[in-house]
Amino acid sequence: MNCFTIHGARGTMPVAGKNFSRYGGNTTCFSLKTRQGLIVVDAGTGINALSDCLAKAKTLPPTTLLFTHFHLDHVIGLPLFKPLYRPQSRITLMADPGRSDDWARSLKTLVGTPYWPVRLTHCGARLSFQDLPSTRMPLQLYGIRVSWCPVWHPQQCLAYRFDVPGQSIVIATDHECGRQRRLDDCFLQFCRGATTLIVDAQYTPREQAAHRGWGHGTWQDAVRIAREAGIEELVLTHHDRYRTDTQIDTLVREARRYFSRTYAAREGMIL
Ligand SMILES: [Zn+2]
Ligand SMILES: [Zn+2]
Repeated sequence: MNCFTIHGARGTMPVAGKNFSRYGGNTTCFSLKTRQGLIVVDAGTGINALSDCLAKAKTLPPTTLLFTHFHLDHVIGLPLFKPLYRPQSRITLMADPGRSDDWARSLKTLVGTPYWPVRLTHCGARLSFQDLPSTRMPLQLYGIRVSWCPVWHPQQCLAYRFDVPGQSIVIATDHECGRQRRLDDCFLQFCRGATTLIVDAQYTPREQAAHRGWGHGTWQDAVRIAREAGIEELVLTHHDRYRTDTQIDTLVREARRYFSRTYAAREGMIL
């Protein structure tokens, strides 16, 4: 049985308080568990909840961490990922080979002096850092077909697609439409026929107009992509850090006027 779970749906910075309790204040993290292993997308603070579940397990599944990009909201939970500290853990970390930076070195800097008392490669787990194949040929990971596609975001970001018979989920955590036609077209193709699209809807149109080039989308963009790509179910994510639960409800209500099966990502949500 495959189980896809949202552990964090907030963008930019985690938030806390009663106004954020329903959708949650933790930043991006998703997991997809199969009989053969565990795929984790991003290591925002949402990874803590996943980490606590895994801490109860006697044996850990083989795990692959896929990164969309390396902005802090997507990696800041990594030092607290408990499987890192279990010597029997086998963890593969993967990201875009087309990046202009050395992403593995960036993670080793984040988890190490002076930001963390233990070095990433000395935590205990057996780690393997691997670039995704530059051919863009989809991977088979633990029985899941995994493909990826670049989307527009400062310093590059990847969207991922997970296909199993009868279900396909696309995740595009940070994505601004209308910046590069080629990327928009490529992303639309990438989404075609997926059952679920989880996509960046951080801004209202007014907020986006004031933050052009910051790399985030609106629910209007999300609805348009979902309709054009023939998606069945739309999940808005990367909620702005100031967006309260009630305001998220309002956005979802508005989006449903154009795409009835629209939901907002929330912590603990299983797809
Ligand atoms: Zn982000
Ligand atoms: Zn980002």
